Amino acid sequence: MPAVCPSPRGWRSRTDYGRRGALKLQEDCGIDIVTDGEQSRQHFVYGFLELVEGIDFSRRVEIGIRADRYKAMVPTVTSALRLKGRVHASEARLARAHTKCKLKFTLPGPMTIVDTIADAHYGDRIEMAMAFADLLNAEARALEADGVDVIQFDEPAFNVYTREVEEWGIAALHRAVEGLTCTTAIHICYGYGIKANIDWKATLGGQWRQYQEIFPALAKSRIDQVSIECRNSRVRLDLLKLLEGKDVQVGAIDVATDAIETPEQVVATIAEAARYVAKENVAKEKIIAGTNCGMAPMRREIALAKLEALGKGAQMARKSLT
Ligand code: ZN
Repeated sequence: MPAVCPSPRGWRSRTDYGRRGALKLQEDCGIDIVTDGEQSRQHFVYGFLELVEGIDFSRRVEIGIRADRYKAMVPTVTSALRLKGRVHASEARLARAHTKCKLKFTLPGPMTIVDTIADAHYGDRIEMAMAFADLLNAEARALEADGVDVIQFDEPAFNVYTREVEEWGIAALHRAVEGLTCTTAIHICYGYGIKANIDWKATLGGQWRQYQEIFPALAKSRIDQVSIECRNSRVRLDLLKLLEGKDVQVGAIDVATDAIETPEQVVATIAEAARYVAKENVAKEKIIAGTNCGMAPMRREIALAKLEALGKGAQMARKSLT
């Protein structure tokens, strides 16, 4: 049962020393698949966009994002999109040079990007998503060449635009992963931290079933892993049956509370999810213990204690479930 690190951006340090420290802390917590810590980016979408030509960051407009769940001031696409150069080369190479663990890197997904930006050039959401997917693909291929083992696309927009996921969301993702031989993952999520998300979740009822509409399409996709929140969430875990054949990153750590999970609680969440994953797949470590979402807003010592619980819990689950 490998444990995977999310994105402890709370450990913000732009120095090489700080970045190496983030790797060491993850290793010490027993995390098997580590990340660079995402310390070099301020935002999971705009961190990528900073290196994209064709976006005017001074032309900010207010739009309703995630189907108008909340308003955000976003930059505008004003001409054809092109990468100015490598986006994450230095972080990926530094991390690769300083850990022997498997290395994971996250990028924003095409649908989430186009939902978080204004368009004054393409005039067509799908066309713009495909243009971003091409750029993501170029960076993803380069990350793979840098020695990254797992590339994850964050697509919180997937459970908002469930119809579009099948219509073009998966196609855009496929374009983003084209030619990759490393492991690919998608993180879908109900969002954390801000009041608009908490209010929205309160309207979704006792059981969250949005994934029911998109899991069958994801099961048919070429993406290897799906990352979802399981700890303290209202996602029905029996929906995991719809992800047949996929590896599942089981979110066993709640990132919306400072309460530290015990390793036993981590095991219990993984065991509950494992009920809905074929037994032979559990044995093949097709379940990966992770966190519900990124830990960016969390205090460092809390994030660290939660990662320790995750590492210990994953180790215990490996013994008891496989
Ligand atoms: Zn998330």
